[in-house]
Amino acid sequence: MKTEPQNNEAGTEKPRYNPYLGFLIAIVIVMLLNTLVFPLFMGDKVVNTDYGTFISMVDEGKVKKVNINEGRIYFSAIDKDNTEASYQTGAVNDPDLVDRLLMAESPNETGKIVFTKTVPRQNSPVINVPLRSVLPGRLFYLIGRKMRRMVPNRMAGGEGDNVMALGKSGEKIYAESEIKTTFADVAGQDEAKEGLTEIVDFLHNPDTYTRIGASLPKGALLVGPPGTGKTRIARAVAGEAKVPFFSISGSEFVQMFVGMGAAKVRDLFKQAGEKAPCIIFIDEIDAIGKRRDNSLGGGNDEREQTLNQLLTEMDGFDAKKGVVILAATNRPESLDKALLRPGRFDRRIQMELPDLQGRKDIFEVHLRKVKHEDVNLDLVARATSGSSGAEIANIVNEAALRAVRMGRDAVTTSDIEESVEVVIAGAQKKGKVISDNEKRIIAYHEIGHAMVAAKQSDSAPVHKITIIPRTSGALGYTMQVDAGEQNLMSRQEMLNRIATLTGGRAAEEVICKTVTT
Ligand code: ADP
Repeated sequence: MKTEPQNNEAGTEKPRYNPYLGFLIAIVIVMLLNTLVFPLFMGDKVVNTDYGTFISMVDEGKVKKVNINEGRIYFSAIDKDNTEASYQTGAVNDPDLVDRLLMAESPNETGKIVFTKTVPRQNSPVINVPLRSVLPGRLFYLIGRKMRRMVPNRMAGGEGDNVMALGKSGEKIYAESEIKTTFADVAGQDEAKEGLTEIVDFLHNPDTYTRIGASLPKGALLVGPPGTGKTRIARAVAGEAKVPFFSISGSEFVQMFVGMGAAKVRDLFKQAGEKAPCIIFIDEIDAIGKRRDNSLGGGNDEREQTLNQLLTEMDGFDAKKGVVILAATNRPESLDKALLRPGRFDRRIQMELPDLQGRKDIFEVHLRKVKHEDVNLDLVARATSGSSGAEIANIVNEAALRAVRMGRDAVTTSDIEESVEVVIAGAQKKGKVISDNEKRIIAYHEIGHAMVAAKQSDSAPVHKITIIPRTSGALGYTMQVDAGEQNLMSRQEMLNRIATLTGGRAAEEVICKTVTT
């Protein structure tokens, strides 16, 4: 049985809390309170009237008090129901007003209107300027900063040792200063390592290169299926070169508000410039670097702006400074051409699914961390054909867990074999009830597969037959393990494969005289 590469990447994206949304809601609430709720508590209502009404009320002797204040006239008067009410109206340039008020009658005890004018208070400019312009700005800044702090930090990458907090825009950008990962931790991928060694060398002794006038590629694109160690090898470059490592995922640039992503890019490059020489690693660059021309009707403004900013920054910074950008993607064909132009990500480092030797090496790397007893590396590497490095890491961990469950203190070959099956076919379904008759049918079915496979000359040998049901739905299966690595499949081998697959059903027919699902 061949293994299908599985995507085991855990989707650990936490639900996002957007500070700006909270801010917006707060503003709307305050506005609603202001217009709808507060006036209800304000006591007397002030009625708006026009100047003519005010004058006629004065003439009719209804007005008690008048206050002229910065272009508005507030006055109280007796209305039709003989109760006192407050009014306001705009002040008009009326030279006769004072005479009129002096002459008019009033319901006051004195019979005269009480009138005053409020002298506008003139603050000194020393107080005025900060009060009016600086303070509100400062206030907004503080609120904004407070909100940013409340955002959970999603940018810290991996095994965070000695993390330095940096960054001004939005969230913090972390640079890890002491990466312990080295090329020795990345098994196989020799071509990729070769391509990256030059970058490591450049970061070590930039002088050797600049003396000749050579400048290194500013960016390299790591291309390969998920779980082939792109992130790991990028960290290893930083670890080998002993430079800080900035890690960010492309999707983190794409924010709700247009312009935020671009600001983040600007910030990232600024911080990186200060820490140079260093490595910037952008995971999933396709999240921002998608081709721009093929979107009908508008497209994503934010993404485009972010991409443009990234392009500008890459053009802008001086390669001699020693900031190297590594970006990872598993869909290079979807990237914008502008990103791949010389002077940008002009190097492409291909990461492959590991071959037999590569898988052996990856097992070795990961078995270093767990106690194990004479594990047959060759066997387990052959059984995991088509698996990625991440899957192998997962298998080794499953094996260690199984060893613990079994009460042993070291991982054995059988632990790994079992966890290969767990990763490929799912866990054993111990509780599933299968009748004896069904078990018999399943057993003959699997033996049918196995016999046909065993009789063929050009097929992988049968390694294991099982009728233990698995969570993937399989009731049993026959596992064939290739002796070596295979890159091509002949016509005969394909026919063999088909024959093997039909062997199960044929066996049911021969033995049970019937066929089942
Ligand atoms: P990618 O970024 O390509 O999706 P990662 O670098 O995140 O993959 O790899 C995930 C995990 O898989 C790593 O943490 C590592 O444990 C394991 N791994 C993948 N490739 C290798 C390799 N070549 N050597 C050792 N471990 C590997």
